[in-house]
Amino acid sequence: MQRLSDRTAGFTDSVIRRMTRISDEYGAVNLSQGFPDFDPPQAILDRLAEVARQGPHQYSITWGAQNFREALAEKQSRLMGRNIDPNAEIVVTCGGTEAMMAAMMTVVNPGDKVIVFSPFYENYGADAILSGAQPVYVPLVPPEYGFDPDVLEAAFQQRPKALILCNPSNPCGKVFTRAELQIIADLAEKYDAYVITDEVYEHIVYEPYEHIYFASLPRMFERTLSTSSLSKTYSITGWRLGYVIAPPNIIDGTRKVHDFLTVGAAAPLQEAVVPGLRFGEEYYRNLQQTYTQKRALFLRGLRDIGLPHTEPQGAYYVMVDVSAFGYQSDLAFCEDLARRVGVGAVPGSSFFHEPENRYIRLHFAKREETLNEALNRLEHIYRKLRA
Ligand code: GLN
Repeated sequence: MQRLSDRTAGFTDSVIRRMTRISDEYGAVNLSQGFPDFDPPQAILDRLAEVARQGPHQYSITWGAQNFREALAEKQSRLMGRNIDPNAEIVVTCGGTEAMMAAMMTVVNPGDKVIVFSPFYENYGADAILSGAQPVYVPLVPPEYGFDPDVLEAAFQQRPKALILCNPSNPCGKVFTRAELQIIADLAEKYDAYVITDEVYEHIVYEPYEHIYFASLPRMFERTLSTSSLSKTYSITGWRLGYVIAPPNIIDGTRKVHDFLTVGAAAPLQEAVVPGLRFGEEYYRNLQQTYTQKRALFLRGLRDIGLPHTEPQGAYYVMVDVSAFGYQSDLAFCEDLARRVGVGAVPGSSFFHEPENRYIRLHFAKREETLNEALNRLEHIYRKLRA
């Protein structure tokens, strides 16, 4: 028989999602794949129950249901400081994952270069291969995760088609400052590149840090494909609702990619989440407070156990330095952690382009009981895992 496509040979399955399966296998507290173990807001669930009876149960318009796009445009216009046209500047996708893939397919020709900051959310590697892009990595250097503007400019000198910007950043928790965003904006303009953002943690930012939408910088809307998702904001990761926002000429292309990839996001779920999109400021303030408390609890716990870790400025991930345990492979470490300590984590190497082996990623988007249970188990880590 003929060989299957070469396309999939260049990457493995997702290590993040594999770690969820490994955690489940060992009955570990799963702090690997980032998703909450608490319920979405009641108003959304109540609407879902109504929608189950009333519909819609058939396709929505391929680029998203009208009332979903209108509610989203209203919310994002407020946040991004410009009028987003619900009828020309939005495509609703199956999660942030499809949004990023559709954005890449809209912009990139096979062989084009794309700048990716490293560490990066692991999907971007596979997205690059699937769209034929060649990643050019620019390090975000631990422990501060800053970048060197000269290194970034050298990457732009390779004439990339686009730069991928995850802000707030998964996995390192960096929230880019206005000055950093302006450096990126100036280079994108100077070298005529697009910017594809991933802003799924836009509402999970810790004081005093502040999320600034890249597309809100002067002249940047024209060259930015802003992608995001409702997963983290409304605790509905299984609903797979995401979107791309961009100017009409770009959205025309994204609509086509999206239409033939998936036809559309689930119509009943788009309908059910509309009350969420219409929540006022208070909801987002509460969300931020909730995560601020979880962050405090979890970081305090890690400190008490004596595990060196990052202090995220945004998102809900912590990079823990496990070099003291003397493992050769962080994947082997994570397997032992799940099996012998009972906590699921993601090996840091799946986020770094550089040969990095000293970090694991844990997340704290969990109920307090769950976080306390994980911390109780982690108390035994030095006894159980020291090589
Ligand atoms: N963003 C989440 C993480 O990094 C997972 C998202 C996903 O698996 N689609 O863990």
